[in-house]
Amino acid sequence: MIQTHNLGFPRIGDQRSLKIALEQYWKGSMSAQNLQRTAASLRKRHWKIQDRAGISYIPVGDFSLDDHVLDTSLMLGVIPERFGWQGGEVGLDTYFRMARGRAPTGLDTSACEMTKWFDTNYHYIVPEFSKDQSFELASNKLFDEVSEAQSIGYQVKPVLLGPLSYLWLGKEKDEGFDKLDLLEGLIPVYQEILGKLQAQGVAWVQLDEPALILDIGAQWRDAFTHCYKQLATQSPKILLTTYFGELRDNLELACTLPVHGLHLDVVRAGSELQKVINVLPETHVLSIGCVDGRNIWRTDLDQVLAVLQPLKEKLGHRLWIAPSCSLLHVPIDLEWETELDGEIKSWLAFAKQKLGEVSLLQQALNQGVEAVATPLKWSRDICNHRKRSEKIHNTRVQERLNNIHDAMTQRHTSFETRSALQQAWLKLPLYPTTTIGSFPQTANIRAIRRKFKKEEVQENTYHDAMKGEIKKAINLQEELGLDVFVHGEPERNDMVEYFGELLDGFAFTQHGWVQSYGSRCVKPPIIYGDVSRPEPMTTAWIMYAQSLTQKPVKGMLTGPVTILNWSFVRDDQPRSDTCAQIALALRDEVNDLEKVGIRIIQVDEAALREGLPLRKEDWQHYLDWAVRAFRIAVSGVQDSTQIHTHMCYSNFNDIIAAIAAMDADVITIETSRSDMALLDVFKSFDYPNAIGPGVYDIHSPNVPSIEHISTLMQLASQRIPAQRLWINPDCGLKTRAWKEVEKALTVMVDAARKLRADQEVL
Ligand code: GLN
Ligand code: ZN
Repeated sequence: MIQTHNLGFPRIGDQRSLKIALEQYWKGSMSAQNLQRTAASLRKRHWKIQDRAGISYIPVGDFSLDDHVLDTSLMLGVIPERFGWQGGEVGLDTYFRMARGRAPTGLDTSACEMTKWFDTNYHYIVPEFSKDQSFELASNKLFDEVSEAQSIGYQVKPVLLGPLSYLWLGKEKDEGFDKLDLLEGLIPVYQEILGKLQAQGVAWVQLDEPALILDIGAQWRDAFTHCYKQLATQSPKILLTTYFGELRDNLELACTLPVHGLHLDVVRAGSELQKVINVLPETHVLSIGCVDGRNIWRTDLDQVLAVLQPLKEKLGHRLWIAPSCSLLHVPIDLEWETELDGEIKSWLAFAKQKLGEVSLLQQALNQGVEAVATPLKWSRDICNHRKRSEKIHNTRVQERLNNIHDAMTQRHTSFETRSALQQAWLKLPLYPTTTIGSFPQTANIRAIRRKFKKEEVQENTYHDAMKGEIKKAINLQEELGLDVFVHGEPERNDMVEYFGELLDGFAFTQHGWVQSYGSRCVKPPIIYGDVSRPEPMTTAWIMYAQSLTQKPVKGMLTGPVTILNWSFVRDDQPRSDTCAQIALALRDEVNDLEKVGIRIIQVDEAALREGLPLRKEDWQHYLDWAVRAFRIAVSGVQDSTQIHTHMCYSNFNDIIAAIAAMDADVITIETSRSDMALLDVFKSFDYPNAIGPGVYDIHSPNVPSIEHISTLMQLASQRIPAQRLWINPDCGLKTRAWKEVEKALTVMVDAARKLRADQEVL
């Protein structure tokens, strides 16, 4: 009999009930006991869903009040000193203070750093290691949840982040040691955990080692061998799970560690399947992750069965089937989507539906395809229908895609020539000041937008309200004396969703929430078909803003790579093609903006870096098509039109050449939090165009000082000639209050004036 299992289930709850409970608890309107009760009932509900779907081994320990890496830190007693932990079971509020800096009890403490979980949009809390880091079992959460599930009668498979991936994901907080040195101290605690699980009667435990798909190098590979030899002794059977990519140089290692089974993400590492089968010992279980846990498309079951059937012959009961990775990265249940176009809906599968597919595959293998002929045919018909659907294929878009030529990806002349032409009409002072795009998104704006969507107010009323906001933003910028204005983006709910709604080829869910971090969830758009722009998207708003002032107003768009990276993307053509289609649509918008007289246009690429592949050898290929897409979007304009871009991640040092290759006339970046340390890269790399290094942190309500800004700009001018420097905040202002914005920008403009005056004296 072939078994099925699941690697992890979304925790947030349909209708986001965990989010709601967490936020109530943080506010003080829910007790800790009730929060735990909500959590327990969610776990129970989720186990039931998985059991009902027909999953043989139910994951336990994947549930988290905040983050599973943080849970692992708690379990291992990795609590930074500043949280004042004295040993013993770590309390709930210490946990939340680590995650978010504050909790209903205890002193506010600076939170632990958060960073992206591999190439997903989920963020984990980075473990902090000190030089004398010790480990001890400091949380019983996993064991309690195992008992909880066992008492209901489930066959449980506890899920644990493996010791090597855990170390890999953490950060040394002291100088002079390597986190890998900590492994010796970590192994006994993992042994203790595995021993306890065995004592609880657990047959299989899932150890996640996604680090095995990264460039870890020989030393870490040796550490894997050393560590797993010692784990194998007193333990339930270990299923070593890898996901999100190919094993490549770690394949032999992953296949031969002394465990009892290996999980392979066949969606992303299908090309390695044969090799894995050849190398895997005859005693190992091979778990095939064949249902995509990273995307929302229905599985082509025939195609998967064609792979699984021969495997069944070969492996027999040693074959397990599962989703490719944890289902944390997809929404929970498609059935909630009552407003989605029926045809598009039929092409989709969320977590619950994906488990149904796993179970159907199992039945087909165990009982023969005849036993499930009807659902298989149903699924086949839908897949075939999707392939042919007119909703997807737009020949005009395909033709345009095929006819992109090099000239479309290049500005007509060099930056030097262009900037002279731009300066001829812009006549900007030294250190021009601008902002990144958004102004405060107040409760009022959100309220009227909600009403407009529910059709409780007329379009006119809504538009007038937005115009009012634009006017307010323009007036403030005028008063403050900024040099290049923005309209403030009041009409945009979200920088991707706004454009997705106006482009063809995008669909939106009502409840398709995916956890981003803590209680924060996002609802990514679904790109299902060829992308095109039926009509101008932003010109009317920007023209209105421009009509209110003599100063230039920047057109404001979200770039193709960012739209792509923050959406669920179609799986029937390369991502690069979808990206180029979005770029073509944006190119039309950029050209239209120019036509109506907007001659500074910003195309944001906040998520360019996020799309970097997990293996360095794959970076260049991605950067090539990503940069090309940006250039397709912006290269249709005249030389005198100034193209800006904005990126808000730290650490662009290793992709600076690609950023320069985007050839934007001006780039604004986030640097303020590192005191411009990020600009160090310009010591060795001669960045050719203009830059606005963010001079203050918009994530904080604090008002920056003139001195602070001046010092930062002086630092910047040691790296980049002053003639190519701009002054701006480090990101959009939508999360701030008007008062804060007014104060901060006043200081910023004053600082610019002072710098100019100083320069004149020189
Ligand atoms: N133009 C956008 C804004 O100001 C950019 C947001 C971002 O970089 N994340 O809000
Ligand atoms: Zn930003």
